[in-house]
Amino acid sequence: MTADLRIGLGIDTHRLAAGQPCRLGGILIPSEVGPTGHSDGDAILHAACDACLGAAGLDDLGSLFPDNDDANRDRDSREFCHETLALLQKRGSRVLSLDIVVEAEQPKLAPHRAAIRASVAALFEVTEDRVNVKGKTAESLGEIGRGEALRVTAVALVENT
Ligand code: MG
Repeated sequence: MTADLRIGLGIDTHRLAAGQPCRLGGILIPSEVGPTGHSDGDAILHAACDACLGAAGLDDLGSLFPDNDDANRDRDSREFCHETLALLQKRGSRVLSLDIVVEAEQPKLAPHRAAIRASVAALFEVTEDRVNVKGKTAESLGEIGRGEALRVTAVALVENT
């Protein structure tokens, strides 16, 4: 029987603010700026969850965990990953791979790529070779280029049973 493979896409943008802890991909990165948000602002995990949920045909992250719900205030986004995986497992789906692009002037991701890959792989229960994380700058263009925001795009491949 042919495997039922589905692709999902997730995009998340957060403002960057000075003095804000910079949590990306489930780890704390040393940085003068960090993403703000109702939860901990971890745009990598938000985009990755949305990509997986989309591939599995499930509701999106914002509907599952609304930002007007006090239960999600300052929430550790790793919990969103645990709940996303539980929903996928309930549906008979598993993550096969994740490819992630982070557009930001700051922080520079290169020194942290390996650690982010390992963290995201553990959270989505795949081997590290099935997760990729790439950093891009925006050539000084727009709000990302001015360092006011960062945007993460994630693509997930999910197998449904
Ligand atoms: Mg978000």
